[in-house]
Amino acid sequence: MRDKSIVIIGGGIIGASIAYHLAIMGAKNVVLFEKNYVSSGATGRCGGGIRQQWSARGNVRLAMRSVRKFETFKQELGWDIEYRQGGYLLLAYTEEEAESFENNVKMQREEGLHVEILTPESIKRRFPYVNTTGVLLGTFCPTDGHANPHLANFAYIQRARELGVEVYTHTEVTVVETSSNRVTGIQTKRGYLKCDVLVNASGAWSKDVANMAGSDLPTESYRHQILVTEPVENFMTPLIMSFSKNFYIRQTLHGSFLMGQGDPDEKPGINYRTTLRFEKEIATKLTTVLPFLRNMRIVRHWSGHYNMSPDAQPIIGRDRNVENLFHAVGFSGHGFMLAPAVGEALAEMILTGKTSHIDLSDFDMNRFERKLVKEKNVV
Ligand SMILES: Cc1cc2nc3c(=O)[nH]c(=O)nc-3n(C[C@H](O)[C@H](O)[C@H](O)COP(=O)(O)OP(=O)(O)OC[C@H]3O[C@@H](n4cnc5c(N)ncnc54)[C@H](O)[C@@H]3O)c2cc1C
Repeated sequence: MRDKSIVIIGGGIIGASIAYHLAIMGAKNVVLFEKNYVSSGATGRCGGGIRQQWSARGNVRLAMRSVRKFETFKQELGWDIEYRQGGYLLLAYTEEEAESFENNVKMQREEGLHVEILTPESIKRRFPYVNTTGVLLGTFCPTDGHANPHLANFAYIQRARELGVEVYTHTEVTVVETSSNRVTGIQTKRGYLKCDVLVNASGAWSKDVANMAGSDLPTESYRHQILVTEPVENFMTPLIMSFSKNFYIRQTLHGSFLMGQGDPDEKPGINYRTTLRFEKEIATKLTTVLPFLRNMRIVRHWSGHYNMSPDAQPIIGRDRNVENLFHAVGFSGHGFMLAPAVGEALAEMILTGKTSHIDLSDFDMNRFERKLVKEKNVV
């Protein structure tokens, strides 16, 4: 399998991580196509948060494996991606949420994750800048953190190139040719390429790529907006998040605050416009939770897309209809943090048919035939 021709569609963090892992595992003939530039999709627009505190066990396992790999990223790839483990502080504002957090922590501890449950008083003691009005409890995992998504994406692409992967940017895959339920080749404006394996890492365009190959995916893409403030002295180490109040916020290493929220009224589709409503809503909400933000200026505001799956968990593995087509899509707003473990597991699956650290059956397409376990910890 190592000499087979493998084509990856998508030069975001997922495609780049798969390309890099295939190359270090000895794959000789890997080509990656990106229709725009590296990091132009959701990756370059994301919050860069890296969290292991999930409600679904599979996500906890995938995120824990990714964190092990983020911890050795600099050593392994030789790139400083501004990775810091300042923890994630999750705030519960309702009885239902508090109970759900307690159940999650029990499961997360079973998986070997160190997570603390904090009272509002201990939150105030440790993070005095948080207004704890209305907070019932918090959970804190000190090994959660954040990194610079552009740098991580560039690092994987550059190392993959050095290891022999051919990367073509500004080259859209426009046709996927199939025969007898197998992909045989792809077409771009640069020409036709025969392939033995096709990997769909196309993020918000995951369904279009599956459709081109004669298959389908239950994914839909939704716009998410995010803004950044002027920089100030760096003091806020954790990423702070609430699901019921619908926000996340972190401080970057150079001092800016990055913050975002979901919009329940958003319709599926690609839409890069930004709205004043987003700025008003998030400013009102976050200047209450973090009053120090009141006098800070917004520098920039942009949008990107979450590629959502029906249970808000990723779809990773072989297609059900097309034998040599693999997907790594549907990350539902948390693909950056999972990319190291996903790249490793999918590369192993493609090359050997097995994985060493992650059981990909939690993420395959057959689960949509069963009763779905929805990931609840998503903004
Ligand atoms: C506002 C926002 C905040 C987020 N915050 C976080 C966070 O804090 N932590 C986290 O883990 N995740 C976060 N996410 C989610 C994260 O950004 C994504 O899950 C992740 O970047 C997905 O990576 P990807 O490589 O699958 O997709 P992308 O980065 O979108 O890459 C897919 C690429 O495929 C290319 N492509 C598509 N079709 C074709 C084609 N036919 N031919 C060639 N190329 C093609 C696209 O141009 C694109 O560059 C956030 C997302 C948004 C929008």
